[in-house]
Amino acid sequence: RMRADFVANASHELRTPLTALTGFLETILGAARNDEKAQARFLGLMRSQAERMRRLIDDLLSLSRIEMNEHVRPQGEVDLAQVAAHVRDVLSGMARELDCEVTLTSDGPLTVTGSRDELVQVIQNLAENALKYGSSGKRVDIILRADGDVAELTVRDHGPGIAAEHLPRLTERFYRVNVQESRARGGTGLGLAIVKHIVNRHRGRLSITSELGKGSEFSIRIPL
Ligand code: ADP
Repeated sequence: RMRADFVANASHELRTPLTALTGFLETILGAARNDEKAQARFLGLMRSQAERMRRLIDDLLSLSRIEMNEHVRPQGEVDLAQVAAHVRDVLSGMARELDCEVTLTSDGPLTVTGSRDELVQVIQNLAENALKYGSSGKRVDIILRADGDVAELTVRDHGPGIAAEHLPRLTERFYRVNVQESRARGGTGLGLAIVKHIVNRHRGRLSITSELGKGSEFSIRIPL
């Protein structure tokens, strides 16, 4: 049932931009055949639909790659403080555009056994979500600390928060609180599903807490 639902959802998600692309093409070849200005506008719209398809396919491929390896323990040694600093740097442009500050607090190097690329993806997905949905709070905090024999990394935003009934479903594939808002911000609905799979593969845990009007907190705990 889950597999069938997933295939149906993924197909639907891909067909939507494809339908839009075909529609714009028809217009360019038909009504707007001799209208250069309209053509330029439609080509711009086509580009954003094509980008949306690419993001979806990238996320679907990430998900399937991670699922294939889910039962194989990752091998490398990764310093989460270094990864968190890297993500903050990668997102500095986006943060500036949104007029939002990303702060990083860490206890110094915290090394876990894992895949650096996958852990970058986890922290980046969480921080990107905090910026995409919570930038009205003007600040996103990334907090890294050791708690006994686990490393705990928290991404906290001070945005609108998420109503309690959505929290248990956020990591389901294609589950979105508000589909229009997610699409407008370039979301695919797969980011948190990817996060959950990677964290599982690292024998870790993801927890989500949120309060409407106050913001949200996404924490991962990975054995040191
Ligand atoms: P998307 O690609 O839509 O961002 P995700 O799986 O990353 O998909 O997130 C699923 C949904 O969870 C989002 O569409 C959004 O509704 C909600 N969400 C995720 N992070 C936050 C956040 N920090 N604040 C508010 N809502 C969030």
